[in-house]
Amino acid sequence: MKREQELQSEGGSQRTCVGCREVCDPADLERFILFEGHLVHDVRGKAPGRGAWVMPRRSCLEGALKGGFQRGFKQKIQIPDLDELVEQMHQAMADRLRQGVQVGVRARHLAIGAIAVSESMKAGDVKLVWVSSQAGKSTRQKFITNADRKDIPVVDDLDGHELGTWLGREFVSVLGVCDKGRAERMMRDLKNLRDLVAFKG
Ligand SMILES: [Zn+2]
Repeated sequence: MKREQELQSEGGSQRTCVGCREVCDPADLERFILFEGHLVHDVRGKAPGRGAWVMPRRSCLEGALKGGFQRGFKQKIQIPDLDELVEQMHQAMADRLRQGVQVGVRARHLAIGAIAVSESMKAGDVKLVWVSSQAGKSTRQKFITNADRKDIPVVDDLDGHELGTWLGREFVSVLGVCDKGRAERMMRDLKNLRDLVAFKG
């Protein structure tokens, strides 16, 4: 019964995955709502109405489709195909990450390129460093070592060409995120995306 209550009260800080029933941080889960009996991935996590939460993993999504969502929403739902659902989620979550980067630019939360990131790191503004996997060896080493020394989280395997496309450039070797909230959201978006892709199977 406790789990049902947790599902209902969305104000609490913990959520239960309807797939495996593990209780965890909402940042590690993806939210779903029902729209006219159809399951909708609420990728922003803000749509009104009752929500059900699930870890972005194939096994959890499988469990959720086999009854978890139904229990969570307490009604019959149209069950989508697992592979299609995973594919849709993948696209939506990749879009969310890309939009986060683009909003970050407009909000001036990002330092783009080696020179800008170096300066922002010196000023102590950088909360997260993204290093492209295709950046030169010395650039990679310099930023990864520097970030480690300053205790700044690093993501070091990003596609610099894809990141460039998002930012209207040919290639981005290093990106610095200079806003704590933005950095945390990006790390969460990236982690969930990776979880989903890793378990895509
Ligand atoms: Zn789960």
